[in-house]
Amino acid sequence: MRVPLRAGTPADLGRWKDTQPAATLFRFPTVEMPELCVAHGKPGVWSRRFRIWARPETDFDRMPRSQRILHEFLLGGTRLERHFTRIGTAHSMSLTVHGCDDCSRWLRLHRLRSLLRFALSFVMMIGSPVVLMGTVVEPAVPFLMFGGLSVLCYSAAKASWLERFARAIVSVDGKYLTIRDPHPDYVAAVGSASRS
Ligand SMILES: [Zn+2]
Repeated sequence: MRVPLRAGTPADLGRWKDTQPAATLFRFPTVEMPELCVAHGKPGVWSRRFRIWARPETDFDRMPRSQRILHEFLLGGTRLERHFTRIGTAHSMSLTVHGCDDCSRWLRLHRLRSLLRFALSFVMMIGSPVVLMGTVVEPAVPFLMFGGLSVLCYSAAKASWLERFARAIVSVDGKYLTIRDPHPDYVAAVGSASRS
């Protein structure tokens, strides 16, 4: 589902109205976003407000997956740089996501999985050298540590759950907010908001 976005008026932008590039990059929905959760179409019992950025395709995104993992591992700094470039140059909007009780269950499960992944990566990084040093499998230790570090990077990325929960992304040109696979009730609510 696509929700058209518009540029901000001075009233929308508030303290950002004279600040570039924020004033040109901040986008606003043309309809009132419903206070329902995207996944189940139910009224939210909790909400979180966060800023969502467009994700321009970079050279990095065009790499094969295996190359990307290696690239991240060897050049960790470029990841941060890419992140800052995105924040400084990509369109964004402030979005409030709503969650129902079913969403809370999903979130608890998601957090549990993240915790287990963290635990696994720590065991691989710290536990494996301690246990295996001096044994016949000692040559495997660096690989296990490397594996542990990969799991840790992966876990940290997965732990930022809001974007995933919102199922939303701002288009690169800033014209639309795309919501992936919304519940029919959510679609209907956006539809009636845009007609009124
Ligand atoms: Zn829900």
